[in-house]
Amino acid sequence: MNTLLLAITAFALVVLVALVLRPVQEDVESNHEEDERISPLLRGINYLLSDEPDRALQEMVQVARLRSEAADVYMALGEMFRARGEIGRAVRIHQNLLARPDLSQDIHLQAHVALAIDFQTGGLLDRALVQYQKALNIQSDHAAALEASLRIREQSKEWLLAEELLSRLERVRNESYGSHRAYLFAEVARQRFEQHDEEGAQADAARALELDVRCAPARIVEIDLALHRQDLDAAETGVRTLWKQAREHFPLVIPSLLQHETFYQTRGLNLLRELWLDGQDAELILAWIESLTEKRGITEARNLCNELSFVPHSLRESLRLNATLGEDSDVHTGFARQWRKTAKNYVCEQCGVEVVEVRWQCPQCHSWGTLHPKAEENV
Ligand SMILES: [Zn+2]
Repeated sequence: MNTLLLAITAFALVVLVALVLRPVQEDVESNHEEDERISPLLRGINYLLSDEPDRALQEMVQVARLRSEAADVYMALGEMFRARGEIGRAVRIHQNLLARPDLSQDIHLQAHVALAIDFQTGGLLDRALVQYQKALNIQSDHAAALEASLRIREQSKEWLLAEELLSRLERVRNESYGSHRAYLFAEVARQRFEQHDEEGAQADAARALELDVRCAPARIVEIDLALHRQDLDAAETGVRTLWKQAREHFPLVIPSLLQHETFYQTRGLNLLRELWLDGQDAELILAWIESLTEKRGITEARNLCNELSFVPHSLRESLRLNATLGEDSDVHTGFARQWRKTAKNYVCEQCGVEVVEVRWQCPQCHSWGTLHPKAEENV
């Protein structure tokens, strides 16, 4: 018999023992009621022992229907099924519980949250949101329901709805999430820019930067907007500010600078040269060389590398350079390129997860702005 069946059996036995050993002062009527509960419970255990968990559950529904304390047993069973990945069964248990008319408001709330988690675990995000909302209708300051709904809105890239939930969470917890909000507005700005709503994008990028001046994605939208409307002064100012405020994410703007031919020829080239001389930042020059190779070919990239006398100082830098500028015929280049495709370039300061491409929100702990470039490859 597997561990789940053992666990359910243990639960059933606990309920049974609790019923049998109830205080003797109970009146005859309630004794009769308990008798009614014991027989489905015994049948349930019987089904469990014969490895028929679904029929066992049916019997235990009877038990729970007769007495509200059994709801706790139910909730625990639901948790167990979900933890085992049997989402369908967890859903059925929680739905059964919610179908009971005599349920206390507290159990109702717990069951809505549990059902929401079932749906969320099963990837049914819309249905999860409905259940969280029902929980919030019972208790509007339920922080866990607010937070889970926020995650779902973020996951579905519904940034404004996420921002609304963040505001509610701030009020409930009496904390300020200014930087988190800045990243949400940066996402809104990027979305608007992609939908050609330049004015809206500008306003939201500004809002984000007002909340957090180091919010790199908002600054990059601002630079993209300036380039788009051919405002080269504003673009240059934006680039310098990004360098000053969020240097570690500076390389991400380089493809935009190269994309805009006029800007790159008249200012970008000199500006990048100046910034390279300012800090000899290897990430800057590597991103520049990679972008140049992609957009203008390998010869120009090799010339730049020679002109600025760039020499890698770590294995990671050396591999990146080799992957970009190495000869196709060189076997080392082949290996370096393979490495480059799967190398984890960013690491989360909160949870330590490592990812290949930059993300503003950590895929594991969901914090915003906590992923930083990895400095050195472990050898
Ligand atoms: Zn993280």
